[in-house]
Amino acid sequence: MKVTPDGPDDARQQEQPAPDPPPARCGPSGRVLELGDTGRQVAYLRQYLHRFGYLRQCPCPEEVFCRHVKSGVLRYQRFFGLTTTGILDQATQVQLAKPRCGVADMDPDDPDPPTNGDYNLSGGSWSSTSLRFFFDNGTSDISGTGERDIVRRAFQPWAAVTPLRFAETATESDAQFSFGWRTGDHGDGSSFDGSGNIYAHGFYPPPVNSGSIAGDVHFDDAEEWDSEDGGWWFWKRIDLETVAVHEIGHALGLKHSSVGDAVMWPSYEGERRSLHADDVAGIQAIYGPPTVPARSEFGVASMWALKSSGSYGSVTIDLGRRRRFLAWASMTMLDSLNNFDRDNAVTAEIFKVDGNETWRAIYGGDHFGGAGDASNVHQGAYVGYGRRITFRLRSMNPRGDLEAFGAGTVVTLDALDE
Ligand SMILES: [Zn+2]
Ligand SMILES: [Zn+2]
Ligand SMILES: [Zn+2]
Repeated sequence: MKVTPDGPDDARQQEQPAPDPPPARCGPSGRVLELGDTGRQVAYLRQYLHRFGYLRQCPCPEEVFCRHVKSGVLRYQRFFGLTTTGILDQATQVQLAKPRCGVADMDPDDPDPPTNGDYNLSGGSWSSTSLRFFFDNGTSDISGTGERDIVRRAFQPWAAVTPLRFAETATESDAQFSFGWRTGDHGDGSSFDGSGNIYAHGFYPPPVNSGSIAGDVHFDDAEEWDSEDGGWWFWKRIDLETVAVHEIGHALGLKHSSVGDAVMWPSYEGERRSLHADDVAGIQAIYGPPTVPARSEFGVASMWALKSSGSYGSVTIDLGRRRRFLAWASMTMLDSLNNFDRDNAVTAEIFKVDGNETWRAIYGGDHFGGAGDASNVHQGAYVGYGRRITFRLRSMNPRGDLEAFGAGTVVTLDALDE
């Protein structure tokens, strides 16, 4: 039997239109643009929407706000959770002006484009759980080789919630991930744009990308990289660890999330080094939760759903082979504000057996009814037959004040079959 703790869960101010337009051109100082408007600002908006996957090329004049540009603005507003006006209004301009990752948010030909509120998968993944990374250069922005320590650290949030293990190698050909600092057009079809706007990009795993570029991460060395966020002046100094955690997410197969607090959100919003529940759900949808061997016929594994770690935790107990078992989940919770209210709703679930949902859970929090309500009946025990029993602990309000701790327990029942 195995127990498997799954963790808790600028641009250059050129006079000619650039391939990656400076956001300042359609930033907060710009005027509101709408259908029928014309001018250089419209051309920049068109290029921006095209660059990030919101707009395919159309036959209309470059400087005209055509219906295609309008539908691109609507897609952009839906992804970012903005009011869908189809107009380049103030709120949309503010979002457009933020520095952001160079990876596109969607495919302009996708008939069902992603909208606000969920993670997105690229379709690429690594088949091995043992992965290696390599540094092909560094940046002079951070003293010594401090940038390497920061990138090494940025793997940890992903390692904590998956079966993936990461190790450094000195040989590039041994590495899935290669990290480097680049400027301008650096030969991979995705140019950097000087200080501001795009600051980094990461390449999805096979089969989305093939060859050595898959899994690689580039940082724009025209930015000023730092070991901490620049605060109010964040557009001057960028927290490398925040960006590295995000780009590693791409290198592992995640696309941009439309959840505003997720690490995989496209734009830089200041320091954001730990995963949101949405990031955890996304990466576990690809690689599953972490797994470690159990040593006895009685397996217990702990979960925690802390507000600081995304209010989500899961764990898998691997019996090594299909066996009869009794599994149950238990939990306790702590409301740090001491007001037991709706945000105290939690569940501990015997979530899946060999990937199939059991629908067995125990609930906590008065959101599910008063004392004695049928909704408070515990359904936390489950007798089944299988190998991998996955437990899940969830706090329903990820921004709530609730800390929850849970345990999943499995006892094998082979003897009863004799
Ligand atoms: Zn058009
Ligand atoms: Zn990105
Ligand atoms: Zn690159």
